[in-house]
Amino acid sequence: MLVKHTPSTFEKLHVLGGMATDDILARPQPRNARQPYAVQTRNDAPGVYRAALPNGKFINLMRVMFTDYCMMDCHFCPNSHWVPRKRYAFKVDELANAFMEMHRRQTVAGLFLSSGIAGSASKTTERLIQVVEIIRKKHGFKGYIHMKVMPGTEYQYVEAAHRLGTRLSINIETPTVDHMRKLSKMKELERDILKPMSWIADLIRDNSEANRHSGPAGLSESGRDLGATPAAIGQATQLVVGASDESDWDIYERMDQLYSEWNFKRVYYSPFQPVRHTPLEEHPVTPMIREHRLYQVDWLRRVYKFTNDEMKLAFDDRGFLSSEDDPKTAIAVENLDSFPVDVNAATRDMLLRVPGVGPVSADRILKNRRTHAVDNWRDLQAMGVVRKRAWPFLYFPGHRPPRAKQLRLDLFSEGAAQRIPDSPPLQGSIDACASTGSCAGCPMFGAPGHPGPSG
Ligand code: SF4
Repeated sequence: MLVKHTPSTFEKLHVLGGMATDDILARPQPRNARQPYAVQTRNDAPGVYRAALPNGKFINLMRVMFTDYCMMDCHFCPNSHWVPRKRYAFKVDELANAFMEMHRRQTVAGLFLSSGIAGSASKTTERLIQVVEIIRKKHGFKGYIHMKVMPGTEYQYVEAAHRLGTRLSINIETPTVDHMRKLSKMKELERDILKPMSWIADLIRDNSEANRHSGPAGLSESGRDLGATPAAIGQATQLVVGASDESDWDIYERMDQLYSEWNFKRVYYSPFQPVRHTPLEEHPVTPMIREHRLYQVDWLRRVYKFTNDEMKLAFDDRGFLSSEDDPKTAIAVENLDSFPVDVNAATRDMLLRVPGVGPVSADRILKNRRTHAVDNWRDLQAMGVVRKRAWPFLYFPGHRPPRAKQLRLDLFSEGAAQRIPDSPPLQGSIDACASTGSCAGCPMFGAPGHPGPSG
């Protein structure tokens, strides 16, 4: 006898909440990666993730797909039509009510809503809009909602999504038209992804212009209610790194365009992992370090405001970032003539170019030196400077690192240390140094009380 099993809402949440982790924000990343959101799953509540927002606050999000069925052929995707497995889908009311129930029980404070494409892109986006409409209009929820817009969605649905979501995203997956051709015969980068992205960018810009005249409306990124009419205030996207054999420079150029032309809030990077039954099941896994390096260049571009000319120095001739050295150190090493910088006179921009100095430590240095000169490592370390990275690039009374010519010799001459030392500098007294050899590369060279070069 054939028994038809209809999955419960709880069962669907288990599956479709779990599938949503294949999307952005969820994959564990290397330590210290500029991780967009620290995400933990909660076993007791399927589909619920504790996420640290960029403003430092934590929020419990319901993170779920409307359906894990997708008619598309993306060669890397576990939801694509290549993969034979059972699929699930919510009904519109069912998902809206499940979210509101969890919100009423204070299990979640926001929603991240994604989906595979079922029927057509516009039809699927329309269903997501209907879910969010019930949540916003019927239940009056004004908190954080991140909505996916399906690639290929028509303008009227993009516009409707913009009026309801706090943040919108369309996954770009790969940086160029040619790379997209390698990943899908059904998606066109320009028509299906870049065009709707430009619409969203225009809608957000027009809305913020209108708010500038009439006062803020909608929600802040942290979910603060600013007024009566919510409207999206940010756009994000995700790239799958390594699926189409693109270079890091290809990705960087696309990321730069998204930030500078369309004012994206964030671009996320997810390393490719082969999925059984897909055309790329034999394709090698992308190492996590590649994703980590991309988050680092993203950070340099977006937060430190490095120019494109500076950023180019971090890439090799084939357009890849080093897996050995972080991009900021690689740029500094290519730019040795600009170093060392005087801690007590350098501008904020120049301080930010020193490896081991970030925006917080740069601001602390500027504040401190208004009252007294900075003249020792202990104070700098207390301000957040990472000594093992910064020592060759900073100058202050009592610490004079080698000048560029000597530093090049120290770092790159035959027999010298090939890289800036990763290990912490020697602790304790200078007297402990009994070396009679070259001081090349020694982290104590130039330290307070150092007797000077030996040999
Ligand atoms: S459109 Fe999205 S969900 Fe569908 S196969 Fe492509 S990547 Fe996967």
